[in-house]
Amino acid sequence: MRSMKTLKLDLIIIGGGIAGLWTLNRAVEAGFNAILLEKDSLGGGQSVRSQGIIHGGTKYALSGVLTQASNTIKEMPQRWRDCLAGQGEIDLTSVNILSEAHYMWSKGSLGSRMTTFFATKAFTGRVEEVSSKDRPEVFSHKKFKGSLYRLNELVLDVPSVVDALRNPLEDRIYKADINTAKIEMEGDQIKAVSFGDEQLRLEPQHIVLTSGEGFEPLADKLNIKQPEMQRRPLHMVMVKHQHNLPMFAHCIGAGSKPVATITTHPCQDGGQVWYLGGNVAETGLERSEEQQITFAKKELTALLPWVDLSDAQWASFHINRAEPKQSSLTRPDAAFAQKVGNCIVAWPTKLALSPDLADQVLPLCGTPSSTTETQHLDLLNSLPKPETAQPIWETSF
Ligand SMILES: Cc1cc2nc3c(=O)[nH]c(=O)nc-3n(C[C@H](O)[C@H](O)[C@H](O)COP(=O)(O)OP(=O)(O)OC[C@H]3O[C@@H](n4cnc5c(N)ncnc54)[C@H](O)[C@@H]3O)c2cc1C
Repeated sequence: MRSMKTLKLDLIIIGGGIAGLWTLNRAVEAGFNAILLEKDSLGGGQSVRSQGIIHGGTKYALSGVLTQASNTIKEMPQRWRDCLAGQGEIDLTSVNILSEAHYMWSKGSLGSRMTTFFATKAFTGRVEEVSSKDRPEVFSHKKFKGSLYRLNELVLDVPSVVDALRNPLEDRIYKADINTAKIEMEGDQIKAVSFGDEQLRLEPQHIVLTSGEGFEPLADKLNIKQPEMQRRPLHMVMVKHQHNLPMFAHCIGAGSKPVATITTHPCQDGGQVWYLGGNVAETGLERSEEQQITFAKKELTALLPWVDLSDAQWASFHINRAEPKQSSLTRPDAAFAQKVGNCIVAWPTKLALSPDLADQVLPLCGTPSSTTETQHLDLLNSLPKPETAQPIWETSF
């Protein structure tokens, strides 16, 4: 019989999406003896399928009112920019920036509404109208008649963010599904997590659940009744083409949400994918893949009639955003963290809000324990290592 290996830890983080990886980096920097367990691939839940926009909240302000969401998220682009420049809380200098700015555009008649709105003090320094000579190529066509605004928001290549967060902490990241572990509880406290065959017993002070949609089965296993989770389903569309027309923009219609949010992602074979979210994705839940593609084709033809997409390849897929439950499925306003026993349940609700999430999680984790500093992480070597997830456009065409 193999002997039991016991490892005392300050934190076990469950889930290696952006939330878990960011929190791991911040926790280790703060002196916590922390590890992360991921059941599949790093970023393979929502994170690598996100559009990578580091929002500053402008999109939420479209209703004409500055909501709580837009206030909280306002500071995020600068925090990420500091990290990308090597001067922030985490070193993201190796990350591939897809666009230094995200844009917002509207067709002719809505322009005046946006101009009035963006002229308000709340947007000073966050939104700037783009003159015709400075427009990105896709909006330089003579048929483009609308207004174009440059937002102080970045777009990042998310797999490269995942790698930048994982690389310095490889020795603390392992592949394991906590649903398969034996959990020892004392009241509402988790005392130990054991992985059967290898006789590995982990004794954490706290467990951080950044498991995205995977929270629900875990909540059952750990008997967590509150908080609850909600899903916001999306039907995303991808258009793969051979143009070199990078586009990063929300297209605004008459409503308070973008008609379409389009980001552009390079493919390994040299092609480019336009990735469509926004209203196209939110209203497409009942549409079949074929209907969704037909719908998206119509929208894009109406929005960008000068771009020939006759040779493009199209695909769509369903995915859920996982968030804390709100009344009437409204959008949560900020990152969310709540302590239950010695677990901390956390959802960033947006990739952009990962810094805010770590700010909320760490104070709930107590103080780093000096007694665990000498523990040997090589006891974990019996566990495999997770890969970084591939973008979905690499496998869909
Ligand atoms: C289509 C789409 C587009 C988006 N675009 C943007 C955007 O442009 N900008 C933005 O800011 N936000 C965006 N978001 C939101 C953003 O992607 C998410 O808020 C964020 O990625 C959530 O990160 P996470 O780490 O909490 O979850 P996830 O990335 O889902 O990670 C959770 C991880 O936990 C793991 N896990 C689950 N259960 C277990 C278990 N039992 N044991 C071990 N591991 C487990 C999963 O395998 C997964 O890897 C978008 C979301 C979607 C779906």
